[in-house]
Amino acid sequence: MTYAVDEKGYYGQFGGAYIPEMLYPNIEELRLNYLKIIQEDGFIAEFDQLLKDFVGRPTPLYFAKRMSERYKAKIYLKREDLCHTGAHKINNTIGQILLAQRLGKRKIIAETGAGQHGVATATVCALMGMECIVYMGKHDMERQKPNVERMRILGTKVVPALSGSMTLKDATNQAMRHWINHPTDTHYIIGSVVGPHPYPDMVARFQSVISEEIRNQLNEEIGNPFPDYVIACVGGGSNAAGAFYHFLNDEHVQLIGVEAGGKGVDTGKSAATTVLGKVGILHGSKSLLMQTADGQVVEPYSISAGLDYPGIGPMHAHLFETGRVQFLNVTDDEAMNAGIELSRTEGIIPAIETAHAIAVLSKMDFAPDDVVVINLSGRGDKDLETYIKWGKY
Ligand SMILES: *Cc1c(COP(=O)(O)O)cnc(C)c1O
Repeated sequence: MTYAVDEKGYYGQFGGAYIPEMLYPNIEELRLNYLKIIQEDGFIAEFDQLLKDFVGRPTPLYFAKRMSERYKAKIYLKREDLCHTGAHKINNTIGQILLAQRLGKRKIIAETGAGQHGVATATVCALMGMECIVYMGKHDMERQKPNVERMRILGTKVVPALSGSMTLKDATNQAMRHWINHPTDTHYIIGSVVGPHPYPDMVARFQSVISEEIRNQLNEEIGNPFPDYVIACVGGGSNAAGAFYHFLNDEHVQLIGVEAGGKGVDTGKSAATTVLGKVGILHGSKSLLMQTADGQVVEPYSISAGLDYPGIGPMHAHLFETGRVQFLNVTDDEAMNAGIELSRTEGIIPAIETAHAIAVLSKMDFAPDDVVVINLSGRGDKDLETYIKWGKY
């Protein structure tokens, strides 16, 4: 069994590039060049240096002593929350902007829902002195004002998407249209392991530094690179892809993806794609997505903006279908409680996305010697208002 993408851009039956004819030259340019470029010595050296000096890598693998006592296992937290800008997303935007430069691009576009990917993109554009436009649903701009202002401070132009529900999918459509009209000088930075091939593979490779570090750090800490479990939350799936990547072929390492159950998978207010989704095409690739019987995308729901997405990347659809990754889901309330619990037990306020991964600890049946790594995808600063509104602490 292999879990890598094949030459045509598929993971089993999932993946591919389902794109309008007009976008074909852009995607083809990427597909033909990305592997060659990201494997060049010069690229690797610059990527590694920026991850070290700008992002702050390697991020610690922290032994969570009090959580370990409570859950009777050896629990380690991979501290992506300590990355510059507060989450793992910057690993990918650094990789893609270096690639864009080598393709001779001078401008960057992106779309963002909650604004986290927009901020990570605006950050690397400022770093490189490149012009940046971020499309964002008008409704999302109103809900996520601090991130809109962060992008503006960084010199990015934030353009409201005014069609449809004025949220992420409308911003995505507008970014695609922009790209079709500016194919030669512009690169489109996608923020998760979604979109047409080669994006899912490219983003997974940039994020795979997470599992590369986990292996090295565990080796130093416990004398072997293999945990018994790796646990990560899944929105589109990029932090999970990065945390799982270098363990995919080590079948004795159990991999667990955690989706947002929202108010509960039976309530119509959920984002648990592996439970509710069917095979379909979303954002240019074939994957699992939440849809009605006649193929309309169902509006997802989660308290956490980063998990509020109606699909998962094609790699995860394949990992689900083959059973390599076990998918669980937790509700809003379970996640919020877990966020408070981690805050009080370890002194770390997690992003609410990340709190979903923490919440599965109480659903697991560990042996006392089990080594469990949780990917702590982001910090909770951005979610303070949600914590306050929820109020139960
Ligand atoms: C964006 C985000 C996620 C969800 O995105 P993935 O691509 O599934 O990783 C998870 N955690 C944090 C902190 C995020 O900002």
